Amino acid sequence: MTSYHMSPEEFRANGHALIDWIARYMENVEQYPVMSTVEPGTIREKLPGTAPEQPEAFKALLDDLDNVVMPGVTHWQSPSWFAYFPANSSPPAILGELAAAGLAVQGMLWSTSPAVTEIESAVLDWLVDLMALPQSWKMSGPGGGVIQMSASDSTHTALVVARERHDVPVDRLVVYASTQAHSSIEKGARVAGYKHVRLVDVDGNFALNTTALAQAIEKDVASGLTPVFIVSALGTTGTGAVDPIDAIGELARRYGMWHHVDAAWAGNAMICAEHRLHQGTLENVDSYTFNPHKWLFTNFDCNVFWVADRKPLLDALSILPPYLRNEASDSGQVVDYRDWHVPLGRRFRALKLWWVLRSYGAEGLRHHIREHIHMAKELTQRLEIDDRFRLVAPTDFALVSFSHVNGDAATQGIADAINDSGKAMVTTSRINDQTFVRVSIGQTRTEQRHVDELWKMICDFA
Ligand code: PLP
Repeated sequence: MTSYHMSPEEFRANGHALIDWIARYMENVEQYPVMSTVEPGTIREKLPGTAPEQPEAFKALLDDLDNVVMPGVTHWQSPSWFAYFPANSSPPAILGELAAAGLAVQGMLWSTSPAVTEIESAVLDWLVDLMALPQSWKMSGPGGGVIQMSASDSTHTALVVARERHDVPVDRLVVYASTQAHSSIEKGARVAGYKHVRLVDVDGNFALNTTALAQAIEKDVASGLTPVFIVSALGTTGTGAVDPIDAIGELARRYGMWHHVDAAWAGNAMICAEHRLHQGTLENVDSYTFNPHKWLFTNFDCNVFWVADRKPLLDALSILPPYLRNEASDSGQVVDYRDWHVPLGRRFRALKLWWVLRSYGAEGLRHHIREHIHMAKELTQRLEIDDRFRLVAPTDFALVSFSHVNGDAATQGIADAINDSGKAMVTTSRINDQTFVRVSIGQTRTEQRHVDELWKMICDFA
């Protein structure tokens, strides 16, 4: 019988070659220019216009990782990655991803692979303890957690659940967040059909101003609208600001709103007890999301979403067509995660997170997160005592925001020169009509010497 399949023997040999390639990449990643500088279309030009008619040897595929792919890669895994937020990774995560691909199961229902559901539930319960979240969010309580692709998906899901709780036309419902909230809130609200999103003023540290929030809510109520959703940011994207979560929770309860915490990046730091003061009691929180795919050594994608009560989530999203009915689901004894988010199909993302937690241990994860935060605070001190620079926001976690005292052109000039050097990468943003440089420290292999090198460049280009 004709077969074009790669045999298990060939897979073994090719797989070893690929693992060798990835290990070499880890060893050498520091030597590549961090940001790809290819012109648009350059990579595509290297590909033939049509798919190959004849099979190609795996060696050719591997060679093209170097020849075609690498020139177009921006090295998020470089230890001199200080741009955006990190999307870090680690060997156990990569191996977990590979094992999940090897099993290639589809965990839409408990019964379609019980291990996918049960490991996911157990690992998210572990995280409830590791991050000191309310015990009632565990699967044994009224709440529960699920892994999704992105924080944007989780926020969108929460917005849909909040919408469904009200018997009011969607064009009468109002969503609130601060002016510093991530764009995924506005996007999620748009996709969920909301017409009113209020971006509320912030205080001097760029955290949501609750007086302004209360005023905005009152104004909307007075004009006959219904407040339904408020987002607290635990670590804004611009400057890492933390909204007053408990105070916002009280307002949410007073007005019957769904309270969602977007902890996409800084949530990872909650595994360290000394940072939990930012999180407060989380008493009046309905949902919470964070991204292990940012800062917990678990490669993209891996987002966690908890709800304090899973009933409204399931009421909003469960649809049971006859072809998905099965005895386990009918028994009510199992979790079917397809009812916890928009997609039906779901991959075994929990495997890599499980392996990361086991491979590092909580102690190892805390150690590295603390190292990142320590390096960020140290860089902050250097900037603070140098009169060429001005700190734009406090450094609560591992994001340093600063500008040049000579203004926007000088500030942008520092970032451009660093990025053009290829030796490191940072991003800029704007706040209060002013450009600032964001230095986000959280790459898996970033050491003090990489931050020292960055500091040298900041000074040289100032
Ligand atoms: N929320 C915050 C605070 C973020 O910083 C980000 C991304 O940086 C997101 C949400 C979106 O995350 P995702 O890419 O997982 O949708």
